[in-house]
Amino acid sequence: MTSEVLPQDVSGDEVWDIVGIGFGPSNLALAIAVHEHNLAHPQAPVRALFLERQAAFGWHRGMLIDDATMQVSFLKDLVTMRNPASDFSFLCYLRDRDRLAEFINHKTLFPLRTEFHDYFEWAAARVADQVHYDAEVTSVRPVEVDGEITHLDVIAKDGAGRVRTVRGRNIVVATGLRPKLPADAVPSDRVWHNIELMHRVDGLARTDPHRVLVVGSGQSAAEVAAELHTALPRAQVCAVFARYGYAPADDSPFANRIFDPRAVDHFHGAPPDVRRMLMDYHRNTNYSVVDMDLIEDLYAREYRESVSGRKRLDIRNASRVTYTRETDEAVYATVEFLPTGETETLECDALVYATGFHPVDVFALLDRVAAVCERDASGRPVVDRDYRLRTASNMRAGIYLQGSEHSHGLTASLLSTTAVRVGEILESVQRGGSPVAEPAPGTGIPAALH
Ligand SMILES: Cc1cc2nc3c(=O)[nH]c(=O)nc-3n(C[C@H](O)[C@H](O)[C@H](O)COP(=O)(O)OP(=O)(O)OC[C@H]3O[C@@H](n4cnc5c(N)ncnc54)[C@H](O)[C@@H]3O)c2cc1C
Repeated sequence: MTSEVLPQDVSGDEVWDIVGIGFGPSNLALAIAVHEHNLAHPQAPVRALFLERQAAFGWHRGMLIDDATMQVSFLKDLVTMRNPASDFSFLCYLRDRDRLAEFINHKTLFPLRTEFHDYFEWAAARVADQVHYDAEVTSVRPVEVDGEITHLDVIAKDGAGRVRTVRGRNIVVATGLRPKLPADAVPSDRVWHNIELMHRVDGLARTDPHRVLVVGSGQSAAEVAAELHTALPRAQVCAVFARYGYAPADDSPFANRIFDPRAVDHFHGAPPDVRRMLMDYHRNTNYSVVDMDLIEDLYAREYRESVSGRKRLDIRNASRVTYTRETDEAVYATVEFLPTGETETLECDALVYATGFHPVDVFALLDRVAAVCERDASGRPVVDRDYRLRTASNMRAGIYLQGSEHSHGLTASLLSTTAVRVGEILESVQRGGSPVAEPAPGTGIPAALH
């Protein structure tokens, strides 16, 4: 089978141990773990197939800003924390690219985002035999034998609309996050989410815009403001956010422990109020915060312009967009300054929402299979420590979820524990689910004792 062609309809025929849905860094790391396992244990191979809707590997391509750097140490790459001897490490990638010495001289833990993308592509190419691109999973169906769900059929379609079914004993869902826009936003060529930035910026530059507006105060919002300020040398860049100023990300060493593998144990075992408390204390390691260097860079730009008198970077702090209207010529955004209630309507060539992401609704993807999955009081899936969804007793097939923040904490949707997480998932798949006493949800006490 080649990686260019979707497998034929294999229901009842070919059965995979793992069918992975999505092939971003999370399932790429899993494919590498499977590859390494199969090399080490040729007598007991795990057969895995990953389905990815993009035509080729791509990691947030729309945000591959030239000078943006990673916000995680390169040591938290696809493998090192699981297997420091792996030849899929970032250091081995550098060796292959003949840049190891230069990188060391650079004295940084934080490579360029474009470089890490190249690293991901390099790794993805080495496990291409496990992946089918141009395969968007639309639903999952149960395969029932004598009242038990023994397998799952994963339904995928390609760009030409051809539908195929792939059967697995386990599925691993790693479909990432979905861009979040305000409820009243109407996306268009002028109004878009920041995840489209690099696909839009050249076209925007060609129109020689006079003003663009960026909504949001997090890392992406600050990156977009800086990038547009550089790429559109004649445009005014308005940055609108409710905070008084961009807030720095806490990447201090004690706080960083919230991203350690051990913190996942603590978070998963904690009662709901403690989980909420930890999440609130440490949101500022990741959410609505900006790297200090970038804050200082933006401040320096604004200050330089206040000296020269040609103010292009217009920071509208303590403000919010209350109303927008689009015409053929422009988008009009009404901005309210919150302390006084004063409003001003700005005519803009583009309005960029850097307003974050939603978690993907796994139940929508699971379709009828969602009915056998347990839900917590908020209707979210109950995800055991081994990332397996808790299901009805007639369910033999495993559903694993990567990216579940409510159950596994802040690190779940980030790269920090990816390498370790996929090792745990692979181990669980091999033993057929959780044999150990699982803590009852939110109690930290094994269910049997609760
Ligand atoms: C601009 C940006 C920068 C970031 N930088 C960092 C960083 O420096 N450090 C860090 O720790 N985290 C960072 N993150 C967080 C980011 O979520 C993780 O880095 C990482 O992308 C998570 O990997 P993933 O594979 O779980 O999800 P994703 O990378 O989102 O990959 C999901 C994949 O699933 C595919 N997919 C979705 N639905 C389907 C479907 N139905 N069928 C088939 N395929 C599907 C998508 O096409 C995609 O390829 C960043 C996020 C963004 C947006």
